[in-house]
Amino acid sequence: MLTDIEIAQQCRMRPITEIAATAGIDEEYLEQYGRYKAKIDHRLLKDRADRPDGKLILVTAINPTPAGEGKTTTSVGLADGLRKLGKSAVAALREPSLGPVFGVKGGAAGGGYAQVVPMEDINLHFTGDFHAIGAANNLLAAMLDNHIQQGNALGIDVKQITWKRCVDMNDRQLRHIIDGIGGKMQGVPREDGFDITVASEVMAVLCLASGITDLKERLGRMIVAYTYDGKPVTAHDLKAEGAMTALLKDALKPNLVQTLEGTPTLIHGGPFANIAHGCNSVTATRMALKLGDYAVTEAGFGADLGAEKFLDIKCRLASLRPSAVVVVATVRALKSHGGVPKAELNHENLDALEKGLPNLLHHVDTIRNTFHLPCVVAVNAFPTDTEAELQLVEDKCRELGVRAVLSEVWAKGGEGGKALAAEVVRLCEEPCPEQPTPEEFTFAYPDNTSLIYKLNAIVNRVYGGAQAVLTPAAQKQAQQLFDLGFGDLPVCMAKTQYSLSDDPTLLGAPEGFTVTVRNLKVSAGAGFIVALTGDIMTMPGLPKVPAAEKIDVDKDGKITGLF
Ligand code: ADP
Ligand code: MG
Repeated sequence: MLTDIEIAQQCRMRPITEIAATAGIDEEYLEQYGRYKAKIDHRLLKDRADRPDGKLILVTAINPTPAGEGKTTTSVGLADGLRKLGKSAVAALREPSLGPVFGVKGGAAGGGYAQVVPMEDINLHFTGDFHAIGAANNLLAAMLDNHIQQGNALGIDVKQITWKRCVDMNDRQLRHIIDGIGGKMQGVPREDGFDITVASEVMAVLCLASGITDLKERLGRMIVAYTYDGKPVTAHDLKAEGAMTALLKDALKPNLVQTLEGTPTLIHGGPFANIAHGCNSVTATRMALKLGDYAVTEAGFGADLGAEKFLDIKCRLASLRPSAVVVVATVRALKSHGGVPKAELNHENLDALEKGLPNLLHHVDTIRNTFHLPCVVAVNAFPTDTEAELQLVEDKCRELGVRAVLSEVWAKGGEGGKALAAEVVRLCEEPCPEQPTPEEFTFAYPDNTSLIYKLNAIVNRVYGGAQAVLTPAAQKQAQQLFDLGFGDLPVCMAKTQYSLSDDPTLLGAPEGFTVTVRNLKVSAGAGFIVALTGDIMTMPGLPKVPAAEKIDVDKDGKITGLF
């Protein structure tokens, strides 16, 4: 059996100008990065303002398990499948971070016969956007510390600096550091730390910005520290946003690539799905909607985190409205939710499957009854799935009025995605009395509600829990954020992805639990309040055997071992 990278390397890619032409993009909008990658100019959005938007299809999933779900793979295969049905489809996806590529997960450009290419480039440096984001982030850090060294006119409290430097690597050694040591002229000694680049607020800002002016204003609003009397200090106070925007002006343009089957795909931005909102840029999504009749996009982790933030943050801030939602599940992952250890997932086990199914059914219920969106379940097929197991998933979904469709895109590419594509088209184009209509779409909480109302709404209506509980420290922070005028911002939940609750060991669909909010902080540039539950890592580490150990390159420059 071929590995993902072997399949990707067999693909005869078409020149990116041809792919652009498929999507109706004139060459005047393209900035080529070699033969197979190009950035697209923002003017395209202005020039196409009058063209009606295509239908937005969100791909989300059950809570992740070690068994793997396959959202990116399904998104790519669905876009290919839609094209096989004669629809014009464009995918919009996140750019992978080097951290997971060299860590546990490996690449993130799809899998099997549903991949985006050039796979090596997409997973490694691509068009340099992440480097630009890191540089902008670190410029701000350098200006901040320099301001203190040069006399600290703003009165920044060195113990209340919230801005960190970043690097796009899993490097736990940099999580907590002491810097500025060495003497009077070497900076101000202080406790510091690095985040991974995808966790930088600059990444979230770039992904939510509607254009270059909005980007600059958002960067200016980012809070980097507090003064001795508790006032926020922003990037604007340090006069940093202009230079930061100069570093980011090209990174702001979406990147065009192709799937193995030549479907135009935009890959742009990749904010962490825990402390940020976890989906590709607003600009890329808007462009995909102007380029295709169908725009397929993915949100990170399970529907409790990814879809909730996609809908409550991204759709709210960018006025987007999905037409249908695909919830990805695998029989293996559902058995894992039912308590089966990883080593035994290959055997039929209907009891465990029935025990794990409530996790899927919960997410389907949230999509339909909290967000009021039409929904289909994509069962991402594995060779070990049995007839009886697939039938059980289908039956349980049908009881909720939702179809479960077998997706074989990993093994067969777009051909294996036609059934899923057909159901998506049906949800978008035909009246489906058993499903909500997209006009009914509502957020989990309305604007102009209190922070505690929002937190409770998410716990209650999305996670299926009882309520949110704030620690005394978090209660104090909630009051401070309100006093600083941030009370109206939407909430970005930072929670374990493994459970609907804040306890990673509670699998399936737990009930009656509370979610403890330990820390509240504002991302004033991105425009949300991050609610941290439990320990959330903003600088991951490498595992005992990092994926990097298997990656190599031969004398001709051909890369192996990326997966
Ligand atoms: P997600 O986006 O949900 O994190 P991915 O689509 O990136 O998941 O898939 C994770 C990994 O699982 C990839 O390496 C992919 O090749 C593999 N994978 C996905 N679907 C299948 C499948 N049906 N059979 C075997 N492997 C799969
Ligand atoms: Mg993915």
